[in-house]
Amino acid sequence: MNILRMIWKNLRHGYQTLLFPSRPKVTSRFRGLVQFNPEYCTGCAVCKMRCTSRAIEFKPGKGEFTWSYNPGQCTFCGRCVEGCSEHALKAGHPEHALSQEEACPPIYLTPGELSLSYTLARKPPVRKPVAAPAPKPAAAEPQPAAASASSAQAPNPINGGAQ
Ligand code: SF4
Ligand code: SF4
Repeated sequence: MNILRMIWKNLRHGYQTLLFPSRPKVTSRFRGLVQFNPEYCTGCAVCKMRCTSRAIEFKPGKGEFTWSYNPGQCTFCGRCVEGCSEHALKAGHPEHALSQEEACPPIYLTPGELSLSYTLARKPPVRKPVAAPAPKPAAAEPQPAAASASSAQAPNPINGGAQ
């Protein structure tokens, strides 16, 4: 290709790189930074146990716990989110605390800038309402016709069963 044409084409298209702080577009279901909603966290620590990268820390305390996330160690695998959602479903909660941002993680300039840490009070366990036992059906009254039929067929103890 003619070098002048190439230069002209490049100039005409303008910037081909993104300018800070823009983030590149991602496809749907892209797994980015882990998002935490303290309102739905039950302090079960399943996320910490599932995170082999040690990006999630969980410190239990007296009547409280501290949940922390370090994106610098996160591989965005999503195992913590999966575990949190499964645990919430088993406990009968419609919502769960963890999700992943559907966006490319932003550039950060200071180490630990995107880290999260929450100290939350322990919540009492939510018990599922126990269903009241179904009322037992009333005992059937003996039927007079059936009673007379059975007595008619019973052997007579006086005459040895002869009718
Ligand atoms: S798995 Fe979910 S509910 Fe359990 S501690 Fe982690 S964020 Fe909280
Ligand atoms: S996405 Fe994976 S690496 Fe990141 S915090 Fe969750 S389990 Fe750990």
